[in-house]
Amino acid sequence: MTSSKVAALPAAPQRDARRIWWNGKARVAGRQTAQELCLELDLAPYRQAQIYQAVCKELVTDPAAITVLPVALRQRLRETLALVSLSPAREVTSADGQTTKFLFSLADGTPVEGVLMRHRGGRTTACISSQAGCALRCDFCATGQGGFVRNISALDIFEQVLLVAARARREGKSLTNLVFMGMGEPFLNYDAVMDAVALLNDPQGFNLGARRMTISTAGVVPGIERFTAEHVQVNLAISLHAADDELRSRLMPINRKWPLALLLAAARNYVAATRRKVFYEYLLLDEVNDSPDDARRLADLLGGPLHHVNLIPYNATDAPYRRSSPLRTRRFADILRERGIPVTIRHTMGDDIAAACGQLRAEGVSRRVRRAAG
Ligand code: SF4
Repeated sequence: MTSSKVAALPAAPQRDARRIWWNGKARVAGRQTAQELCLELDLAPYRQAQIYQAVCKELVTDPAAITVLPVALRQRLRETLALVSLSPAREVTSADGQTTKFLFSLADGTPVEGVLMRHRGGRTTACISSQAGCALRCDFCATGQGGFVRNISALDIFEQVLLVAARARREGKSLTNLVFMGMGEPFLNYDAVMDAVALLNDPQGFNLGARRMTISTAGVVPGIERFTAEHVQVNLAISLHAADDELRSRLMPINRKWPLALLLAAARNYVAATRRKVFYEYLLLDEVNDSPDDARRLADLLGGPLHHVNLIPYNATDAPYRRSSPLRTRRFADILRERGIPVTIRHTMGDDIAAACGQLRAEGVSRRVRRAAG
């Protein structure tokens, strides 16, 4: 019998986790800049640049491993601070080895989730969180059911990518893609997300191409408008999950604030202004939003150029929804294709490890609750 592998990871060192590696060139607002920190630690600027390169290019998270630094300096840094604030608290790998899910602890112990997906063909994608918890309370989502905790910083976002990329590196793989589809709504933490994007995109640093990143929004129209106006080169995905307002408002309460007409108008403006494609995510829920009529309504909504629909199989949570059958999924996709809508059925990954966002944290919470109860 195959089974998923769960690893409890050692606790992070309890030293000061100020990020000395941040080079300050990227548009990141820090309470204390790395330059100030270098002054405080009497560190020459070129040393700070070496640390930045080691963290961003070699994915080093322990000062002792920065071999370009003198041994005495490595030792001093190791005793003074930790390079990275985030610590991996738990990880689970699916039985097929394709997906690893991480529960990270922020400096104050707040949990956020990240996922590493190893695709057939060699692509490697990190899915990371843009907030701790989420206020949008989508009915099918474990994160939404857990509620909002707080916004996280750009560096907290960056460090999730760093730790996921480091895990891939240990297997001889490079991170090729990044999606902001973990916990939270990226456009409700807009500045931090864009600062993280700038840092990830820095050619002197992590150097992940903007077009290899995708921001997925549940439909925060002012966020889409700002994203359009700023001509951000990152891909835009919009979670639709229903093709009429009544059902969408039931599944995604945000639809009451920004209904489909407003959302799709913002998406069309984005396409017109940027000439870039919008990806629509559509989670298929058995006998909820997956009928032939739903498919026809969706096709009618998505007129115009430059769009692509991703049909996503549902990973069960405590919510009362089931995954659509392969037959209903194929029929839904066929109707879209017949009507000229480009569509992809997403390959399911990590069913056995609760790979939908919020599920690992929810499991951790229910375990703690069970422990407290008993
Ligand atoms: S699906 Fe996304 S937007 Fe909706 S509650 Fe979950 S994390 Fe928030």
